Amino acid sequence: MIGCSISTIVRMISSPYFTASGRQTRSATRAAADALGKKKKPARKHVKIEYESENQDGGREQASDDSKEDVASKKRKKDTSVTKKQSSDWEPANWREQLANIREMRKLRDAPVDSQGCEKTADMNQSAETIRYQVLISLMLSSQTKDQVTFAAMEKLKAHGLTVENILKTPTSKIGELIYPVGFWKKKAEYIKEATKICAETYKGDIPPTVKDLTALPGVGPKMAHITMNVAWGEVTGIGVDTHVHRIANRLGWVKKPTKLPEETRVAVESWLPREEWDELNVLLVGFGQQTCLPVGPQCESCLNCKICPEGRRVTRGKPSKTK
Ligand code: SF4
Repeated sequence: MIGCSISTIVRMISSPYFTASGRQTRSATRAAADALGKKKKPARKHVKIEYESENQDGGREQASDDSKEDVASKKRKKDTSVTKKQSSDWEPANWREQLANIREMRKLRDAPVDSQGCEKTADMNQSAETIRYQVLISLMLSSQTKDQVTFAAMEKLKAHGLTVENILKTPTSKIGELIYPVGFWKKKAEYIKEATKICAETYKGDIPPTVKDLTALPGVGPKMAHITMNVAWGEVTGIGVDTHVHRIANRLGWVKKPTKLPEETRVAVESWLPREEWDELNVLLVGFGQQTCLPVGPQCESCLNCKICPEGRRVTRGKPSKTK
């Protein structure tokens, strides 16, 4: 990987978004990091994050790649500062069994998100900064858009030259042409152009290193910011809750009261789900939502959670189960 420090590579490949089998590969990556002399991170507490305490300073030092990573790492720690413990002792009944069943149903990792998700679209032969930029752009394209369509748009952008420098020189109309037909392509072309300018002017060609600074970019919401932090910076700052995660969490009863917005779901699920489960949850549930727990016509009769899912029990009441 050109221009990547060892620490950057280790952090990026340790994301579950880069793996075919999540946990095992993550462990192997940690072992590789240990072998390279990295200290093991102490186990993190189950914490809530307070973004308001972040420093607004957006500038980043430019020196060697390693020193840049150190500066970014210190800054990112402000994102994950421990502020208070979980606010509630409530947790949904059967969540461990439900999650284990979803892992079982997702073990082949053959959903669209597994081959065409945001982490699969970045060109790993680019510099670390450009890879992070491409992850961010892929996520910006992905809202209200199927993974397959986002993937195709990313291929066109990369063939054109998806770097901060080149997109700065590219007219917004051309960006729109390249990303069509992703959802809201006209607006997204404008957002990409504006966000790229901010990356160039404020972050010296890199992307913002905190959730707060990422969500300050046009067209970037909390879901994208948390997934960007995980995939691009290797830092788990929150659960990426998109429409699949939002829907499935409500169907499974993972929220104390039904929620209307993904952001409400994120806060509700983070209040009880142990932090070590956060990083894998998005990719796990998105694939599950693409293959089994579909938005319309969920496959409850063949779902392993049929008997322990409120929605599954409701849908299959009186019907014979297809699960063994
Ligand atoms: S039983 Fe149905 S609603 Fe519940 S998780 Fe399975 S597919 Fe989704």
